[in-house]
Amino acid sequence: MGRKYVIVGGSAAGMAAAHTIRKKDRNGNITVLSNEKAQPYFRPMIPYIINGKKRPDDIFLSGSGIFTQGGISVKTGFGAKSIDFQKKTVTTASGEAFLYDKILFSSGSTPYLPENIEGLDSEGVFSLKTLSDAQGMAKRSETATHVVMLGGGILNLKAAFALLEKKLSVTMVVYSPEVLSQLMDPKDAFPIRNALDNAGLNIITGISATQVLTDSSGVCGVALDNGSQIACQMVCVGKGVVPDTGFLNGNDIKIDKGIFSDPYTQTSIKDAYTAGDVAVAIDPVTGEKTVTSLWTHAVEMGICAGLNMTGSKTVYTGTLGIMNATQVADVPLVSMGIVHTKNSEYETHAKKTRLTYRKIVFSKDGTRLIGALFIGDIKNAGIYRYVIREKKNINGIKSHLINHTVHYGHFMQP
Ligand SMILES: Cc1cc2nc3c(=O)[nH]c(=O)nc-3n(C[C@H](O)[C@H](O)[C@H](O)COP(=O)(O)OP(=O)(O)OC[C@H]3O[C@@H](n4cnc5c(N)ncnc54)[C@H](O)[C@@H]3O)c2cc1C
Repeated sequence: MGRKYVIVGGSAAGMAAAHTIRKKDRNGNITVLSNEKAQPYFRPMIPYIINGKKRPDDIFLSGSGIFTQGGISVKTGFGAKSIDFQKKTVTTASGEAFLYDKILFSSGSTPYLPENIEGLDSEGVFSLKTLSDAQGMAKRSETATHVVMLGGGILNLKAAFALLEKKLSVTMVVYSPEVLSQLMDPKDAFPIRNALDNAGLNIITGISATQVLTDSSGVCGVALDNGSQIACQMVCVGKGVVPDTGFLNGNDIKIDKGIFSDPYTQTSIKDAYTAGDVAVAIDPVTGEKTVTSLWTHAVEMGICAGLNMTGSKTVYTGTLGIMNATQVADVPLVSMGIVHTKNSEYETHAKKTRLTYRKIVFSKDGTRLIGALFIGDIKNAGIYRYVIREKKNINGIKSHLINHTVHYGHFMQP
């Protein structure tokens, strides 16, 4: 009988761990529990389900059946409800119990729903997190004409764009002075803001919603804290995400922001590991513990956890806390390391054109590259990531970094 591995959450981190375990342990018994109905899929693609550019079949992670063929049992619709760390058992919401020798918590994150906005449980209110959310939004958008997006983060922008492409009228209500405030200082966002304005997204900043208004068809409007109201038939809440740790309530496991992870991805409990959005990892720039919402980070940490679960002691070297490489309104964007520099003493260099913006950030003493923000022109972003993440010595290349003339040749050893 092989070793029993149970993985709670079958997405980026969980599936990367499952595949890694299978490579290292041919006889192990791998069970992935997922509380979603769908088989594992590439989550960043779900906005394309809203506008119909992709079908679920297009975004499944490895095609139907491949996990079974690889000896990985993916149990969809099985949510872990409680864990008994003494008896090494997971019990699901429907009452089944699974014994484990090694367990991974890769339950990701769940949308944060502010308590000070009334009516967020109304019909027609969504948060874009799962395939099923995207399908629900696609359906509601067939009859809705006006949508209000609460929050100006990247997920809401992606959802807003998908809805604009479906010819709905979209208003985004943002409490911060500008969209994408988690990723950049307000004044740096201008190329994105221009593109959003040109695309017809109506953005209102510095304001908050207080209540979702309803009638017999569900959502019919949103009330704002300045006393005004916006009529709409659909609302999408994008106010950030929080680690999904509810099923661990009542256990002795250490949770601080997310699930504590030691350098080897082990939690505070023996034989229990964690990876992905739910886990606390070290940011290599700041050295601080952080939770991250990035697919690449979840995969890297999942692979590392898989190695550790099979006994190959491997240190997880951390992730760039806010590293994000994406596209908003057809504008490519890379944000990594420390990029919020307003009122800071970091050495900052910015270069802008009408459509592009590049900012790089050095430590206060100017000896280390600690952040970079590229909008519209993301050429050589990978080199900057390498320098930041590997804490490379920048003697002799600093001016190339500043002038954007750096290339990999600068790091070749003689
Ligand atoms: C719309 C959207 C767009 C995105 N775009 C990008 C992008 O462009 N680039 C990027 O890097 N990242 C992007 N992300 C973020 C990225 O998808 C996440 O960082 C990544 O999916 C995290 O993977 P994970 O495995 O840690 O967790 P998740 O993907 O959150 O998966 C966790 C899984 O565990 C399940 N689960 C939770 N609790 C239980 C339980 N008790 N029992 C069983 N199962 C459970 C959840 O339902 C979920 O299926 C995007 C996310 C969204 C929602």
